[in-house]
Amino acid sequence: MIPIAKPIIGEKEKKLVMEVIESGMLVQGKYVQEFEEKFAEYLGVKNCVAVTNGTQALICALKLMDLKGEVLVPSFSFIASANAVIEAGLKPVFVEVDKETFCINLYDAEKKVSNKTCAIMPVHLFGHSCQMLEVNELAENYSLKIIEDACQAHGAEFKGKKVGSFGDAGAFSFYPTKNITMGEGGVISTNDDALAEKIRVYRNQGMVKRYHHDAFGLNFRITNIAGAIGLGQMDKIEEFIEKRRKNAEYLNKGLEGVQTPVEKEWCRHSYNQYTIKTNERELLEKKLIEKQIGHMIYYPIPIHQQKIIEEIYGKNSMPVTEKLAKEVISLPVHPALTKEQLDEIIEAVNGFRNK
Ligand SMILES: *Cc1c(COP(=O)(O)O)cnc(C)c1O
Repeated sequence: MIPIAKPIIGEKEKKLVMEVIESGMLVQGKYVQEFEEKFAEYLGVKNCVAVTNGTQALICALKLMDLKGEVLVPSFSFIASANAVIEAGLKPVFVEVDKETFCINLYDAEKKVSNKTCAIMPVHLFGHSCQMLEVNELAENYSLKIIEDACQAHGAEFKGKKVGSFGDAGAFSFYPTKNITMGEGGVISTNDDALAEKIRVYRNQGMVKRYHHDAFGLNFRITNIAGAIGLGQMDKIEEFIEKRRKNAEYLNKGLEGVQTPVEKEWCRHSYNQYTIKTNERELLEKKLIEKQIGHMIYYPIPIHQQKIIEEIYGKNSMPVTEKLAKEVISLPVHPALTKEQLDEIIEAVNGFRNK
């Protein structure tokens, strides 16, 4: 069985985790701070704040920006993008995506701007960066805040600059399927020092000094164990991404009869997912199951058609997104793959129409 994802935890992570356990300083602590600093430096942003997961990173950013009204969200994404908007007391307004890049379609976004729109959430889906010049332009024209959902896009770039460094804030996830992991974990990236400080206070019960609570807050701290894993992973982030990119290139060359992923000239794709398209998906899935090749459909149902979303906001039609949801399928691209495994994947896909 070739798994669709495989976290790689090395000796460095194990050593740091053991140090934490032996130190007794289990929560927050120096490794969380070191990890935040290292990730901020990597992204080229002034601040990174670690919280419990990527969903919470989005929620914290949205809540502490004091927004009101509607947020433009692509419908072709993981539901967390929309759930975070709802939890922050805002209304998601769903937008189509580009059928090549799977990223938010800015023509459709502009059509859906109203006098209540306060923000836009570009999602760098699968590790392909959104067209951030156009996102910025739209945001400037309509005075919108930008919250980048970069949960799948650690190390992805737009014109040589890392995603998560463009918006008012960015959100990252460190779930085990992402490009680097902490088990569970999230980060808010921002160049806004005041926002970063507000989030730091908010994640720790609104505490500014021990048992002095000047602001409302809850507990979204991560453990020092997670911090240690994240810090160890940072040594290998570029190596992981380069390996993903090489694997993707190899698959691109080898695969036939399906639509392979697109990488726009302005993008450095980080290949958190390698997502192909075919209008014979069921047949392909059957072959992949037979050949024991891990695969996953991200995402079979667009957010606007999810049961709970239709219950709250009613029915909506988005033809491009709905068609994509029927055609996409993701194949293994993770750094642990061997050349033999890549060849097995290619052989299975290229022969999927044969009995
Ligand atoms: C993973 C993911 C999230 C949520 O991150 P969690 O750490 O699982 O909470 C949000 N948005 C997108 C696009 C994701 O892929």
